[in-house]
Amino acid sequence: MIEVADGVLVATSRVMSTTSTVLFRDGEALLIDPAWMPDELDALADELDARRLRVIGGFATHAHHDHLLWHPRFGDAPRWASAATAALARDEREALSGALGGDFASELVELMGRVEATDAAIPRASVPRGFAPELVVHDGHAPGHTAVWLPEQRVLIAGDMLSDLELPLPFEPDNLPSYAAALDLIAPYVAHADVVIPGHGSPGTDATRRLDADRRYLDDVIAGRVPTDPRLANAGMPEAYERLAALVAGAADP
Ligand SMILES: [Zn+2]
Repeated sequence: MIEVADGVLVATSRVMSTTSTVLFRDGEALLIDPAWMPDELDALADELDARRLRVIGGFATHAHHDHLLWHPRFGDAPRWASAATAALARDEREALSGALGGDFASELVELMGRVEATDAAIPRASVPRGFAPELVVHDGHAPGHTAVWLPEQRVLIAGDMLSDLELPLPFEPDNLPSYAAALDLIAPYVAHADVVIPGHGSPGTDATRRLDADRRYLDDVIAGRVPTDPRLANAGMPEAYERLAALVAGAADP
C-alpha cells in the first residue's frame, strides 16, 4: 500500500488496477471500495492487522460489483453508500453477484453490497479522527455515484471517474448529460485537490488535467471527431469509444 496523503492508504489490485482506499488514524480505519480478488481482500486484512487498525466503517462509491466487496476479516462495522447506490445494490443483487464469477466463496458473495443509505455524510462513528469526508453524489458513470472529498487532506476519491487508464464510461444507456453534469459538480473539488484517487488506475496530483482530458474526450465524441486521447490504447477502451460514438451518432440521426 502507498500512503498518498497523511492517513490515506491506497492498494491497487492486479485486476484492472482497481484501487482500495483506507483512511486511518489512532487505530481506526474506514475502507472505501476494498477490492478485488479474494486473496487481495485477505492481504488487505493482513495489512490492517499489521498496522493494528480496526475497521469502523466502509463506503462504496457506486453499485458495481468490484466496488461493493467486503471480507469477513474486516468485521461487521456498518458500510455506507448513497441512497441510489444502496437501492441498486439491493435491487440488482442477483446480477451483481453473478458478475463476481466463480472465484468468490459464498461468504464473500453474501457480504457483497451490504451497504446502508446515507446521502448526507458518513456517520461520525464510521469515520476515523482527523477526517471530515464530504460526499459528492451524482449520476456520472452510475446512478448515485459518489466522490469522497477530504477537505483537510485535499484528497479526492473519485470512484470510477478521473482515471489515467480508463476513458469516461457513462452508464447504460450511456447517459452523457448526467456524466457532463457530474464533471461540472466535481470540478470545484478537483480544483482544490492535491491528490486524486481513481477507482481504476493510479493516484495522481493531476486532477485538473484529468478533468480537462475527460471533457475533451466527451466533446470530441459528441462532435463526431475521433479523439486523440492516449487512454484509447488501453484494454477495453476502443470498444467503449466505439459504443459511445455509435450511440451519439444514433441519437443525432432520428
Ligand atoms: Zn464502475
